[in-house]
Amino acid sequence: MNQTTLQNQQLDWKANAEAEFPHNAFETLHQTGYLKKNVPIAYGGCSWGLQQKTPQLLQLLTQVGRKDLSVGRLYEGHVNALYLIYLYGSAAQQEQYFQEALDGKRFGIWNTDEPKNPVKLVKNGSHYELFGTKRYCSGGLHMHRPIITAATDQGPQMVIIHTEELDESREDASGWNPLGMKASHSVTIDFSTYCPKPVQLLGAPQDYSIQPYFSTGAVRFAAVQLGGAEALAQCAFAHLKTHKRDSDPHQLARMGKMAIALETGRNWLRETGRVLDSSIYSENDKINHANMVRTAILDLCTEIMHLAEKCVGLAGMMEDHAMHKLHRDLATYLKQPGPDRALTSVGEWVAQTTDTLNTYN
Ligand SMILES: Cc1cc2nc3c(=O)[nH]c(=O)nc-3n(C[C@H](O)[C@H](O)[C@H](O)COP(=O)(O)OP(=O)(O)OC[C@H]3O[C@@H](n4cnc5c(N)ncnc54)[C@H](O)[C@@H]3O)c2cc1C
Repeated sequence: MNQTTLQNQQLDWKANAEAEFPHNAFETLHQTGYLKKNVPIAYGGCSWGLQQKTPQLLQLLTQVGRKDLSVGRLYEGHVNALYLIYLYGSAAQQEQYFQEALDGKRFGIWNTDEPKNPVKLVKNGSHYELFGTKRYCSGGLHMHRPIITAATDQGPQMVIIHTEELDESREDASGWNPLGMKASHSVTIDFSTYCPKPVQLLGAPQDYSIQPYFSTGAVRFAAVQLGGAEALAQCAFAHLKTHKRDSDPHQLARMGKMAIALETGRNWLRETGRVLDSSIYSENDKINHANMVRTAILDLCTEIMHLAEKCVGLAGMMEDHAMHKLHRDLATYLKQPGPDRALTSVGEWVAQTTDTLNTYN
């Protein structure tokens, strides 16, 4: 699908209440085929993001994020989980889980442990049992097939959870009271005494962090974040037009800066998609590109938030203004792991690379 047809593809749903799981959105994502975009063609999908058509997949993530950041976050987790099954799944697992994605099942990836009670996997003969708790589990038990990481003596092991086997009392939503991203429903789940079957173990211990796949995954959340910034900027532009404040030179300057920042973000994503799909770049150069793009998009989203605030003023801080939720969602979703480390890693790459000017040419 080329860019024009992608832009023309309608993506619409009736929004659920702000703190509700976005069932309507997922029904639309299923009906439009978005849930199977990165399922391999051989299994009935489109193979986007599987070392090919990554720019298109990133564009899609931006599109979903623009429509709703919480849905974007959930969709990103779905795409991530299917990618892990593509990378590390057995033939039988791929057969089963890709078919389930085609059928509309929702996948996710829950890696963040509750610090005082991290999840571990205990083996007794051929019998496995989980102990511990994860937090920030986006989608919670609304997701059908989340992948979790569980500590073993050999390192973290991925386990595909079948949530229909979990009682709802395991989910605790009381800790998910964020400023924004409420509908991502990123709750705490206790996995203790859940016994996964051997066929639910995905890959080998430590596969989850194999490079460059682990670090370059940041590109996907950056794409979703950019969509949130696009929606916020559009909202500010609409406000200025409605209130006939769009010819004032200061407002024009801010509108121009926002448009440039958004175009910069889109260019970054196109270029990173190209780099990730290409076999001519080293693993380190791919990771570095991902670190650069996530840092650049974090900065430009932050700039757009400040500019949009100034454009609209106090009205945008009111609950009944469309900007209120867009702003809260973006401020929350920009909080991703290790932003400082991502930037200093770029510095280290510069220090170690002899020809930084020509690396990506
Ligand atoms: C809406 C939303 C949904 C999410 N859903 C999921 C999910 O489904 N599954 C999942 O696994 N996770 C999920 N997460 C959690 C996410 O993966 C990260 O764990 C989380 O966003 C990290 O944010 P943080 O600000 O706590 O990061 P931190 O890494 O704690 O960063 C906070 C600041 O401290 C700095 N810092 C980090 N480490 C150190 C250190 N050792 N010393 C000093 N400074 C440090 C960072 O650079 C940053 O400036 C979600 C997060 C959000 C916002």
